Amino acid sequence: MSTTDTPTTPKVGFVSLGCPKALVDSERILTQLRMEGYEVVPTYQDADVVVVNTCGFIDSAKAESLEVIGEAIKENGKVIVTGCMGVEEGNIRDVHPSVLAVTGPQQYEQVVSAVHEVVPPRQDHNPLIDLVPPQGVKLTPRHYAYLKISEGCNHSCSFCIIRRCAASW
Ligand code: SF4
Repeated sequence: MSTTDTPTTPKVGFVSLGCPKALVDSERILTQLRMEGYEVVPTYQDADVVVVNTCGFIDSAKAESLEVIGEAIKENGKVIVTGCMGVEEGNIRDVHPSVLAVTGPQQYEQVVSAVHEVVPPRQDHNPLIDLVPPQGVKLTPRHYAYLKISEGCNHSCSFCIIRRCAASW
């Protein structure tokens, strides 16, 4: 880079699928990226890389995840997959071999590292300028927020709608 070049802010697009647990994971990932100076942008075209947080619960959720991954690849090209369907990396790569990285649920550090690999954070980022709210990035409306009090579940209660995904964690 020449001395006249202005460093640009790295930009991330993010698609969050699945349940409130996945939404909390998305909030954690986005909070970390924002603290490192990444800008979160609303369109595929404006993003340097797109992260898709997937759901792997039932077949229709998996199909939606694969569809969104395909859309992100078509519209942007640089796609990192994370979340519950990430445990099925082979199935994802069978359909979308060009994904740059696949990580599973709660693998916050791994997905942030994958973003660093594709679009490094700015070395001159000043965290005092890009202040992140103390509660972190929230994706819910202003009047409520989710608080995740456990990671997955070791039980298989018959009444629980997400017991299958809990069992896979
Ligand atoms: S697989 Fe289960 S825990 Fe994961 S996003 Fe889907 S519903 Fe939520």
